[in-house]
Amino acid sequence: MVASTPLGSKPRSTGARDGGWADLHTHTIVSDGTLSPAELVQRAREIGLGALAITDHDTLEGLLEACRASETLGMWVIPGVEISVDGEEGRSFHLLAYGASASNPRLAAFLEGLQKRRECRNLQVLEKLAKLGFPLERPMGQFGIPGAQLGRPHIAMALVRRGYVGSIEEAFSRFLAKGAPAYVPRQRPKYSEAIGEVLAAGCVPVLAHPHSIGLQGFRELEAFVGKLVEAGLMGIEAIFPEGGPAMKEHCEAMSRKWKLILTGGTDFHGDIKPHIQLGWGRGTLRVPFSWAESLAEAVERVRPRA
Ligand code: AMP
Ligand code: ZN
Ligand code: FE
Ligand code: FE
Repeated sequence: MVASTPLGSKPRSTGARDGGWADLHTHTIVSDGTLSPAELVQRAREIGLGALAITDHDTLEGLLEACRASETLGMWVIPGVEISVDGEEGRSFHLLAYGASASNPRLAAFLEGLQKRRECRNLQVLEKLAKLGFPLERPMGQFGIPGAQLGRPHIAMALVRRGYVGSIEEAFSRFLAKGAPAYVPRQRPKYSEAIGEVLAAGCVPVLAHPHSIGLQGFRELEAFVGKLVEAGLMGIEAIFPEGGPAMKEHCEAMSRKWKLILTGGTDFHGDIKPHIQLGWGRGTLRVPFSWAESLAEAVERVRPRA
């Protein structure tokens, strides 16, 4: 159970230990993915992944179901969560927290604050859309999942369903993207607060898909990561669909410099991002299984002792 075993069950019978692979960044229906947690675990088992981390946005809601499925199917699931963070200097980034436990009151309280801000922002976006002549019903949760965290992708889907736009991409470019008329900026916790909270909750803070910070070149990235390391960052996502061999090498260099663990994942979202496949990304991604093991060791180091 998530409550007692932050690492989920860790069966060694998948045959994936040597030369196996992992996907350490995925989303389910409790945020903006389209598979249920159990379906995602099942899919991971089917494609032969040795380890799967589930990292929904701002919520631990899917972890219990995932953990049950992991026990039934003999699939190793690492519980996590992904949060949006203010990196200062006008930059934001995504922080992954691994070893998340649904029974951790400190983490739950921190996430609850983020969920309230998210809900408030969603309502502001809907108000703007209504004023623009594109009203949507509330709630717009198309799946009716209790506790699911809704965001711009769900609003985009609702706009498509109502026939206001032809695609999710169009919904973003016409209304929801930064600078578009229904865009509302999100209030994010400062990076130092977020990393501190993740550590205090006994989880491993990892910088997700570093390309998305919008930094120019590796020198800027290194300076930025150095700032996060000072705040307690423990790892960096070095393999992800938008990152190539040069990014991986640079992350490996930073890993040596600051003893950061390396992680990797597809950021799988199911049908919302149909070009990204679980485990494979755009077709060629391969995250070593040993990285999942290093991550698990890091989780063991920081997890609260009972
Ligand atoms: P939110 O957390 O509500 O700000 O929504 C962020 C989500 O919107 C992320 O999963 C992004 O991948 C997705 N997103 C951002 N821009 C676009 C876009 N232009 N097209 C499709 N999805 C997008
Ligand atoms: Zn997402
Ligand atoms: Fe992300
Ligand atoms: Fe993600």
